[in-house]
Amino acid sequence: MKILVINCGSSSLKYQLLNMENEALMASGLVERIGIDGSVITHKTESGEKIVKEVAMKDHKEALNQVLAAITDENTGAVQSLDEIAAIGHRVVHAGEKYSASVLIDDDVIAALEECVPLAPLHNPPNLIGIKAMMELANGKPNVAVFDTAFHQTMPKEAFVYALPYEYYEKYKVRRYGFHGTSHRYVAGRAAAMLGKDIKDLKLISCHLGNGASLAAIDGGKSVDTSMGFTPLEGLVMGTRAGDIDPAIIGFLMENENIDIKEIDNILNKKSGVLGVSGVSSDFRDIDNAAEEGNERAKLALDVFRRRVKKYIAGYAAVMGGVDAIIFTAGLGENSIGDRAEIVKGLEFMGVKIDNAKNDVRGKETVISADDSKVKLLLIPTNEELMIAKDTLELLQ
Ligand code: ADP
Repeated sequence: MKILVINCGSSSLKYQLLNMENEALMASGLVERIGIDGSVITHKTESGEKIVKEVAMKDHKEALNQVLAAITDENTGAVQSLDEIAAIGHRVVHAGEKYSASVLIDDDVIAALEECVPLAPLHNPPNLIGIKAMMELANGKPNVAVFDTAFHQTMPKEAFVYALPYEYYEKYKVRRYGFHGTSHRYVAGRAAAMLGKDIKDLKLISCHLGNGASLAAIDGGKSVDTSMGFTPLEGLVMGTRAGDIDPAIIGFLMENENIDIKEIDNILNKKSGVLGVSGVSSDFRDIDNAAEEGNERAKLALDVFRRRVKKYIAGYAAVMGGVDAIIFTAGLGENSIGDRAEIVKGLEFMGVKIDNAKNDVRGKETVISADDSKVKLLLIPTNEELMIAKDTLELLQ
């Protein structure tokens, strides 16, 4: 069975076509500048050949039409007709408290997601546009929504309630939701397979370290805590996001810099993180290079980032009363040998011992802890699209 996976952003969209008989990638691609001059689709075939086509796409429906045309192209497509595609899986950012698992989309689901727009004003609207456009184009084929927040709906109340007047939770549902759930769930499943254990018997800490970054404490296969919160701004130091700060800083800066809440939001989301501290870049590769050349602030940015991850790891081990394995995933987690080594340095007291030779690896599913490490360290490349396709298939069956 073939499943098309769609991840719709405000002016871009990513897609993958997967053959679920062997979980193989049949085609993938990216549409950029939707609704802007110079819109372009980059389609990648099974063999990796790239076909770049500049074509006007005034909205997401036209973009999705181009995607379907690329997939069914006579020469470079992956299928002969859309009939071969069984269903479409959509990545959706926010489902509030409504869904704790993926769902088959119908009018009620769309209405529920529209209600969640205030919780994710930048992400849910383009996700919804993509879903509606696809439902029109895919004439009756099932569409499935897979949510970033769903996996974390198992968190106990003490993990998701903020110490604010309780009425704000009741009135506005201000609480921790957590994100990257599809990624955390995928790597947790792979970790259990790698360790040859039932996930129900495992305490895992998943470190999704990319441009956006979050940790999840996963006990018995269920998320029991996570570092992102009401929005993806809380928690770890990220490429451009501040993560945890003293909330009093906001009022202080507004007063002393004479800036409004919009500018504060912009500063915390786009000008902070390792970019803000280093003044160099939001990309860890640039910061690594600058630090190696002796840039003190680049080195400081890395130290601040690593210390935060370490604190969360130890905190989550405490919350679960132990940890069997720590997983590294996403761009930085999969590729940065130095960051992985520095993050776990100092955690020897809780039975964590890295093997530096085994850690000298990128982007491959493997164990990087020493043979006598009580806690296993795992490198697991994430695959959110495969997880979305698997959920979609499961709901069809
Ligand atoms: P997102 O999906 O959140 O945009 P990714 O998971 O693709 O992010 O991760 C992107 C980040 O991974 C880059 O910003 C970069 O900092 C980091 N990264 C990728 N490769 C390396 C590497 N070899 N060394 C250090 N960092 C890396």
